Amino acid sequence: MKFTEFNLSQELNLGLRDIGYEEPTPIQEKSIPLILEGEDVIGAAQTGTGKTGAFVIPLMDKILRDRTGHTQTLILTPTRELARQIDEQIFAIGYHAGISSATVIGGSDFSEQVKAIRAGVDIIVATPGRLLDQMNVLNLDFSHLKYLVLDEADRMLDMGFLPDVSKIVEGLPEERQTLLFSATMPEAIQKVVKKIMKDPKRVEI
Ligand code: AMP
Repeated sequence: MKFTEFNLSQELNLGLRDIGYEEPTPIQEKSIPLILEGEDVIGAAQTGTGKTGAFVIPLMDKILRDRTGHTQTLILTPTRELARQIDEQIFAIGYHAGISSATVIGGSDFSEQVKAIRAGVDIIVATPGRLLDQMNVLNLDFSHLKYLVLDEADRMLDMGFLPDVSKIVEGLPEERQTLLFSATMPEAIQKVVKKIMKDPKRVEI
């Protein structure tokens, strides 16, 4: 199939064309319709499968349909490198749509990000520890948050981030759509799923 069959907003189709995505990968083909419909989704997929596009593409489309001027999406991921890659994909695909994102990660030049966040950024991509450290400093307001993504949940578990993730999620609106991507589903992740997701649909490839 082609990306155009998802009836995404025209600006996103332009972004997808710019970066040379014509056909969705299997995880994208299965996840995108469910996410557009508003379902909580668990995606069993590893890096390299196109899993980043599987969540950023439909979430950007949803943001475009209802722009609020507040941060609508929080993406938690285990490492700075992954956060940067996700941020870059959002910038490239969302360029024509003017979707803004910022990273909250350790060791980066923070001043630009602070400016973007204060100006009201659509999407924040963060590592859990750094986000918790900076919540107060940045005066982050997630009261209008609608979409939460836990990316590489099993790696966040391995790196000891689950308590931080739990703390962050406790402060988010309950009325939200939650997506979780993980290559494996250990017991601890299944517990998190039960606690923070509503009737999730499973997508495997
Ligand atoms: P990911 O698994 O999200 O890290 O993506 C792996 C690589 O595949 C990245 O370089 C993406 O830019 C690329 N990619 C993701 N989706 C597509 C697609 N639909 N068509 C072509 N390349 C893609």
